[in-house]
Amino acid sequence: MQCMVRVEYITNQFFNSRTYVLSTKSSDEVWLVDCGDVEQALDVLAKGKQVKGVLLTHTHADHIYGINRLLELFPEATVYTNSFGQGALDDSRLNITRYHNEVPDLVITKRENVRVLAEGDKVALFDGVLAEVFSTVGHDASCLTYQVESYLFTGDSYIPGVPVVARFPKSNKKQAATSEARIQTLAENLTVCPGHTI
Ligand SMILES: [Zn+2]
Repeated sequence: MQCMVRVEYITNQFFNSRTYVLSTKSSDEVWLVDCGDVEQALDVLAKGKQVKGVLLTHTHADHIYGINRLLELFPEATVYTNSFGQGALDDSRLNITRYHNEVPDLVITKRENVRVLAEGDKVALFDGVLAEVFSTVGHDASCLTYQVESYLFTGDSYIPGVPVVARFPKSNKKQAATSEARIQTLAENLTVCPGHTI
């Protein structure tokens, strides 16, 4: 397969989570995977480009805290998550920003921009480039994994070398183990892009 998409990331200040920027040579638009220090990410990796949307791996604080800034900068940007994540973007307890002093309590300002994804869905990112959606709940009830060409964005459902954390209020240990095993199989010929820099 010839890869069209270019994948880069910055490591966010908060908990070393990552904001990925997906781009192609021929487009003025970019996509994000997760959303922390959004301005720095764009400044470093995508100056002058338009953000079409963001694919959320899950709606925990450290993966979403830049979302309202993103929507200020790009009011048309689409925010993708699953149905649990849609509710969590509206509730600072479910997205756990309430329990972290490092970031302000977060309730999404433009809930009309949110689109709900489920297992098997596909999102058209660029001409001829799709994101394929896998439900990988367990770490959190909002966990999705995305395959884009040869890249697999796993969030916190699978970070190579790190045990999956399943101690959050909406974690499910058994599901986390099943999801991790599934991702490991999927990842065999792919480049894993995890949710954190370790
Ligand atoms: Zn998490």
